[in-house]
Amino acid sequence: MSGSEPPPETPDSLIPPTDSESAPDVGPYRVLARKYRPTTFDELIGQDVLVRTLTNAFNMGRLAHAFILTGVRGIGKTTTARIIARALNCIGPDGTGDPTTSPCGVCEHCRAIAEDRHVDILEMDAASRTGVDDIRELIDGVRYRPTQARYKVYIIDEVHMLSRNAFNALLKTLEEPPEHVKFVFATTEIRKVPVTVLSRCQRFDLSRVDAETLSAHFAGIAKKEGAAFTETALNLIVRAADGSVRDGLSLLDQAISQVEAGLGVEIGDEQVRAMLGLADRSQTFMLLEAILGGDVPQALNLFDQQYIAGADPAAILEDMLDVVHWLTRIKIVPAVADEAGVPEMERVRGKDLEARLKMPALARAWQMMLKGLQEVRVAPSARQATEMVLVRLAYSATLPTPEAALQSLPAGGDTAVPGPASSAIEPAASSPVSPSSTSGAPPDSVADHSPPTSEASAPVPPPIQQRTGTDDAGPSASAEVMPNGRPEPPLEDALPVQEEVAEPAPEPGLQSFADIVALAGERREVVLKAHLENDVHIVDFETGKIEFRPTETAPSDLAGRLTSFLNDQTNIRWVVTVSGEEGAPTMTQDRAAEQAALEAEATGHPLVKAVLETFPDATVEDVRRAASKDD
Ligand SMILES: [Zn+2]
Repeated sequence: MSGSEPPPETPDSLIPPTDSESAPDVGPYRVLARKYRPTTFDELIGQDVLVRTLTNAFNMGRLAHAFILTGVRGIGKTTTARIIARALNCIGPDGTGDPTTSPCGVCEHCRAIAEDRHVDILEMDAASRTGVDDIRELIDGVRYRPTQARYKVYIIDEVHMLSRNAFNALLKTLEEPPEHVKFVFATTEIRKVPVTVLSRCQRFDLSRVDAETLSAHFAGIAKKEGAAFTETALNLIVRAADGSVRDGLSLLDQAISQVEAGLGVEIGDEQVRAMLGLADRSQTFMLLEAILGGDVPQALNLFDQQYIAGADPAAILEDMLDVVHWLTRIKIVPAVADEAGVPEMERVRGKDLEARLKMPALARAWQMMLKGLQEVRVAPSARQATEMVLVRLAYSATLPTPEAALQSLPAGGDTAVPGPASSAIEPAASSPVSPSSTSGAPPDSVADHSPPTSEASAPVPPPIQQRTGTDDAGPSASAEVMPNGRPEPPLEDALPVQEEVAEPAPEPGLQSFADIVALAGERREVVLKAHLENDVHIVDFETGKIEFRPTETAPSDLAGRLTSFLNDQTNIRWVVTVSGEEGAPTMTQDRAAEQAALEAEATGHPLVKAVLETFPDATVEDVRRAASKDD
């Protein structure tokens, strides 16, 4: 990349190379994305597969008539198309070269293409010219030989936008292209391109450039521009660029121009944060810790501070969503926390928080925040709406998980009290959320440091246990809503109280079939549980009513066995019926699919994002799986 071009000796190359590398500081100001636009495949970063495949094709002389480049916007499709045009038409510094994947950059064709003024390279944006006449006009010239170059190259951007008739017109040419014509198509939506067109193209998928490569690339360019960034600042830009070189460079441009006056001064993360409108990350962590610890006053206080400092309420929620997503990824693949580009503060606090949160708590937080964000966007007062979301989150953080709720069912009697799993956040000595006055209390009460009523958090165990059930006006309501009304640690005295509390809402956990399976596990009905997992395609489920299709291997009396189990173990009447309908996959099938997805992530596949983005629709199956892993 840094090697300067050899001075051209041939008569047609008297003009010095206009390559960005060789002439960094002359001429009018050009935006970085244009100034550093790659002109050779070597300069094209992060697209190794594409470069390798194309290089092979060129070396073997097997050049396709049409190429199609696909990938998200800003990833370099048009740039790549132009490099292909160069590669096809380069004649080398001495004018005798063949098509090459290392275009010389100095011959007339290379220069003309780089400057967008080559007569034989025809570019068209299908987004603005979608009609059949546009295409006809364009490909009318196909039958004429190129004026100067070896090939006429037709670059059609956003090709998926062409009308059906336009595609048909194009197809005729694609079926029997003249020797001297090449097509390069670019599209963000490959699925909208007709298969008849696709089948006649060599396809290349441009991938998002990974953070490390982007970081190194931006650092190099910043240096050439005489600007210095702190590592954290640069990583913020990389993260915002989301794999797009072009977006990243335009952010880099903005950041550099902001501090132009004091050039030579290092650009820090505060400046970049301000530019990107990001809140200070440590504040996001503090807010999240307060919420997931059930500390409502602290959460509202922290939110207030951010709001007064000028943060957008929706942006605050978005930042928290971002952190929750990241924590979830760490839970699945711990190495994520150690990736390059993660600032030290986030790495330490992230790992700490992740270790104290279980997957169900993270999944629940994600869903509630996502829903809350939608509310905030339509609410008359974004501030009020956000506060309500935070309060809801904080209270839900102290609700028992389905496991704990099941354990509190009266039927079993042996494990009537929820364990520590019922608090979203587990205690940690280094917790930035101060554990208030409950240092001597059982670990379970860490989530209670900001009780709306005073007595429940007092560290005097037995008498309080009694009062929790008797003093409160509505015991069932308080058990569901108030952080401090949550059932206390195991104590024999507390048992009768527990039963009273559980009575009005008998099956809090039995909201899905997965809950039933888990209950079977709790009650040690091993065989039944196995049949439920392997042999049941759920057709319809609601609490009290199950309809399913059994597999061939299911015992014939499975419905009856399930009915009597449920009617024994719960205090509502269940109706279980067998159906001929297809139904959902069995839990085992579900799990296998999920496992495959996780493994794909483990091998570094970017699929994990897609998996996690499906969390809003996630069912309790996820919760069960993750929680049982903790056992
Ligand atoms: Zn050339």
